[in-house]
Amino acid sequence: MKILVIEDEIKTAKFLKKGLAEAGFVVDVAEDGAEGLNLALGLEFDLIVLDLMLPAMDGWQVLSRLREKNRQALVLILTARDAIHERVRGFDLGADDYMVKPFAFSELLARIRSLLRRAAPRPQETLRMADLEIDVLRHRATRAGQRLDLTTKEFLLLSLLTRRAGEVLSRTLIAESVWDMNFDSDTNVVDVNVRRLRSKVDDPFPLKLIHTVRGAGYVLELEN
Ligand code: CA
Repeated sequence: MKILVIEDEIKTAKFLKKGLAEAGFVVDVAEDGAEGLNLALGLEFDLIVLDLMLPAMDGWQVLSRLREKNRQALVLILTARDAIHERVRGFDLGADDYMVKPFAFSELLARIRSLLRRAAPRPQETLRMADLEIDVLRHRATRAGQRLDLTTKEFLLLSLLTRRAGEVLSRTLIAESVWDMNFDSDTNVVDVNVRRLRSKVDDPFPLKLIHTVRGAGYVLELEN
């Protein structure tokens, strides 16, 4: 889970980074609003801890730009400003929680965990398509009852395609979801892996599930 802390008070920022890292989160820190917005737009974060009084761009602007760009990261405002109308404004702009400084770290952590828990989609344990069955929790896939011998990435790729069966997924989306990084131009790795995946999932079976949509990407579906 990745958290972005946008906070200009160095001491508070360091304290948050240390505490959240100890709690198992990956933490990035931005020391002004403009840098924070840039980071938030460029990378995927699960949650953003946002101060309001910031240099370069205040927290209100950061939040409204984020929501304009349709970024869904959870936002927890952490600020010394505690007037009711400011809290209301925060929620109106799309904040998910609001906490006033001075704060207890244990409460902040509890709120962050609670937000993330509520936002997490409940994992479906088994994904199915025709005779393909994926046991998500045990990382096992079978076709017609035969175990498929997949690498971790192949398993993730197959799970993604199956979870979103019927939807054409672009190479970029696949690269970002499975490899957790941006492949601006080199999406060849996706093609190579889809080919390998097909050799295991489709080649031995008469019914083909993974299809190429020229110029668009890949889709898992039953052919009509
Ligand atoms: Ca501040």
